[in-house]
Amino acid sequence: MTTRRRLIFFFLLLLLVGGALGLFLARQTPPATFDGEQAYEHVLAQVSFGPRLPGSEAHAQVVDYIVSKLKGYHWNVELQDTEWNGFAVRNILAYRGNPDAAPEVLLGAHYDSRLYADQDSGPARSQPVTGANDGASGVAVLLELARVLPSASAPVWLVFFDAEDNGNIQGRDWIMGSRAFAAQLTVQPQSVVIVDMVGDADLNLYIELNSSRTLAEEIWAQAASLGYAQFIPTAKYSILDDHLPFLEMGIPAVDIIDFDYPYWHTGADTADKVSPESLEAVGRTLQAWIMGK
Ligand SMILES: [Zn+2]
Repeated sequence: MTTRRRLIFFFLLLLLVGGALGLFLARQTPPATFDGEQAYEHVLAQVSFGPRLPGSEAHAQVVDYIVSKLKGYHWNVELQDTEWNGFAVRNILAYRGNPDAAPEVLLGAHYDSRLYADQDSGPARSQPVTGANDGASGVAVLLELARVLPSASAPVWLVFFDAEDNGNIQGRDWIMGSRAFAAQLTVQPQSVVIVDMVGDADLNLYIELNSSRTLAEEIWAQAASLGYAQFIPTAKYSILDDHLPFLEMGIPAVDIIDFDYPYWHTGADTADKVSPESLEAVGRTLQAWIMGK
């Protein structure tokens, strides 16, 4: 071989070895694990914008925040601007891969907060709800899952619903965002999992009564296998939440929610009531459940 050919040969060999090493390392790198502290940072960020009320600056800011985080984690993002019963709705959809393929799992959370703390008494009733747990906790779990779910896992959609939490105010209904989203579905997700009020430091997750029981038992069993006693495998409460529009279409759906929360729709639903440990129990359970598919 001439020196020139030797050089080329050596260079090609180097490329081959380098490539093989790269593949090896990529396979050896364990998937990232859901981190409760990082999820909690997402709660603090949302709360820092103020209550995410319809039409408010904070509402626009949280949309920007969710979109920029998702893009940073290499998800494709679509805004769904629509209306329900004459009210504006802006849902956020994140996906990877083919947008026309039905996902195995749709994970949903609402990002809006409530105009009035009507579970308070006196003048506090006219103040808006900060929604650290009611709203921000579910969004935080979805955003941290966006970071840690490997792109090779089962196809997942992350959907951030608008207009969930202002029922019975100025002619608004509950769950308008998920109703609008479900009405415009062109493919059927195999399952839907909603997370709402999952950050309570004293977390007790009972199986919600409208939820598809088989699907719920699968998720609760996953939590048990990880040792998370926050998931209690008995049924309690029936809740009107973002899983209902999907159930009505015949899609198996579960609402993971802790309704034993004394600060619900009060001025005291603030970040100090939320704990990283609770967010982590829910996030790691969902991560393991999805990666086991
Ligand atoms: Zn609420």
